[in-house]
Amino acid sequence: MKCIAFIQTKGGQATKAGLEAAGFAAAIGETVAIVSGELNGDGGLGAVGVGRVLQGPADLDDGQLGRLVAAAADQEGAQAVVCAQDHLGKAVAGRVAVRLNAGLIAGVTAAPNGDSYTRNVFSGKATAQVKGATDRLVITTTPNAIGMPEATGGTAAVEAFNADLGDRKVQVLEAAAPSTGGRAPLPEAELVVSAGRGLKGPENWGIIEDLADAVGATTACSRPVSDIGWRPHHEHVGQTGIAIRPNLYIAIGISGAIQHLAGVNGSKVIVVINKDPEAPFFKAADYGIVGDAFEVVPKLTEAFKAL
Ligand SMILES: Cc1cc2nc3c(=O)[nH]c(=O)nc-3n(C[C@H](O)[C@H](O)[C@H](O)COP(=O)(O)OP(=O)(O)OC[C@H]3O[C@@H](n4cnc5c(N)ncnc54)[C@H](O)[C@@H]3O)c2cc1C
Repeated sequence: MKCIAFIQTKGGQATKAGLEAAGFAAAIGETVAIVSGELNGDGGLGAVGVGRVLQGPADLDDGQLGRLVAAAADQEGAQAVVCAQDHLGKAVAGRVAVRLNAGLIAGVTAAPNGDSYTRNVFSGKATAQVKGATDRLVITTTPNAIGMPEATGGTAAVEAFNADLGDRKVQVLEAAAPSTGGRAPLPEAELVVSAGRGLKGPENWGIIEDLADAVGATTACSRPVSDIGWRPHHEHVGQTGIAIRPNLYIAIGISGAIQHLAGVNGSKVIVVINKDPEAPFFKAADYGIVGDAFEVVPKLTEAFKAL
């Protein structure tokens, strides 16, 4: 099967989620990547199995990107279009599926298994095997779920690409990334330290920041914490926030409501710190510490620093 992988770049390099998507596509078949704008060399795509990279124009809106990717799929005769299930991938995948009259399988969480694909359903409480019923398919891959492909050491040839993209319908006036204090952005973070209402107030987040710094983690929070303004909204994880799948998720003073779990239960290892032994989060935990966060967390931080 021939694939087009739509890849988001930052500073000319494919993002981590983009490399995962490209590796996934290369596992399905011969893959050509399409990017919009700046690219350093091949953006790291040849090393994960991409044969060629088509470089489209920069500064396109979501509609124009959809046209660009669909045109690339037509030119290459691709049966599958793959992209990461990130902000841009979500905006583009549906548009491409409509243009190509293709089935859309969103949020795949495992390497391809023949012609069937694994995705989460019921807010992550179950998985489903899904198969395309159309000649062409659009597939999005959940960041951090499939893992980084093994580097092949290859390089990809880069070619300029353009198509009839129509007029831009939306103008971005300014894009400002939320400050993560030098930490990895939450959707890409492999280590996450998260806290909830058990922390009592925003003035107590110092112990969470200290633990995150000690392990090199990104900070997150439960929804009420961001709703009441203790933490910024971009840290809110769960059903109505960001869904993440880090290697390690440390949940402190969070009860473990189903809506919270929906966004974090794909984490590879979950550690729960809660003073209530009956807190529902312990059922989803790999490791649990029953105790007062204000006593446990500083000790844990010291232990990590000592390591
Ligand atoms: C439609 C809908 C969507 C929602 N989406 C989301 C979502 O995306 N994400 C989300 O998080 N929530 C979401 N919620 C809210 C969710 O139902 C819970 O209300 C919320 O997750 C609870 O947040 P919490 O665990 O921080 O607070 P609480 O439920 O108040 O729990 C605080 C926990 O801290 C513990 N604790 C207290 N003091 C200490 C201490 N000193 N040391 C250690 N532990 C302590 C308590 O034992 C308790 O378990 C949603 C709700 C609805 C209805």
